[in-house]
Amino acid sequence: MTTEVSSIPILRTAEETSDKARQWLADGDRVVLVPTMGALHEGHVSLIRLATGAGRKVVVSIFVNPTQFGAGEDLARYPRDFDGDLAKCSSAGADLVFAPSAAEMYPSGCSTTIEPPAIAGVLEGEFRPGHFAGVCTVVAKLFAITRCDIAVFGRKDYQQARVIETMTRDLCLPVELEFGETIRESGGLAMSSRNAYLNEDQRQRALAISEVLAVARDSFLEGTRTSQDLEQIMVMGLRGRVDSIDYAAVVHPETLGPRNAEDPAVALIAARIGATRLIDNRDLHARDQ
Ligand code: AMP
Repeated sequence: MTTEVSSIPILRTAEETSDKARQWLADGDRVVLVPTMGALHEGHVSLIRLATGAGRKVVVSIFVNPTQFGAGEDLARYPRDFDGDLAKCSSAGADLVFAPSAAEMYPSGCSTTIEPPAIAGVLEGEFRPGHFAGVCTVVAKLFAITRCDIAVFGRKDYQQARVIETMTRDLCLPVELEFGETIRESGGLAMSSRNAYLNEDQRQRALAISEVLAVARDSFLEGTRTSQDLEQIMVMGLRGRVDSIDYAAVVHPETLGPRNAEDPAVALIAARIGATRLIDNRDLHARDQ
């Protein structure tokens, strides 16, 4: 019996990672970063696959960033599976894993943070104050450390993708962004590291989230166009299945704010099932997702 041991290089320090990136850049390669918090699943793997290509060197960062968790959130119990992560990175075609400690990312004296753009203030921003400041700061640091030309993010975290897009543009960061579609389990549940917290009953109830997003999309395509009506449809469908709803919102895809009935629309949900908080979203125009 052969035991597969992942051979992917792992670097723990910013300095070594920057040095490696400099070598690659000097050789004419482009560096592509896929930032993650580990406990990798097929959603992450799809982003790594998207990142690979001729002349590209793919760095996957694995870092459970403490500054994006609020008090009382799940930082201490966030799922971890480093060996599994390495195997997935390796088989998906990554070239390097950057897995720093919190002390490496935030040495004493590191006190500069990024003030996120205005679109960070709604939805997740209302329910997770400080979350996007933590995300923006760590992403900017990861861009700088890895010297990436390209960074890949998932549309699963729709608002995060918009916030990072805005930050990158506003700060003229020399990084091109690529976005991957949401990968779902067979029943429709969006893959998430946090799905590991769900028991069988909770997993069944979690299906309500993707189901009502699909219902909202169908209703939109059939002519229900006001955010209020669409939001009501989602809330009705979630009631009795999820334990609480942080938001079930239909907003403008650009501003993440109010829209007119004739405007494009994206639906976003954050709901709790037991102690687990799940998010998902759907572009209401798209027929297949
Ligand atoms: P995380 O490890 O949860 O911070 O996620 C790292 C990256 O993977 C982010 O860009 C997420 O948007 C993306 N991601 C998470 N879940 C999925 C999914 N189900 N499909 C595609 N991308 C995902």
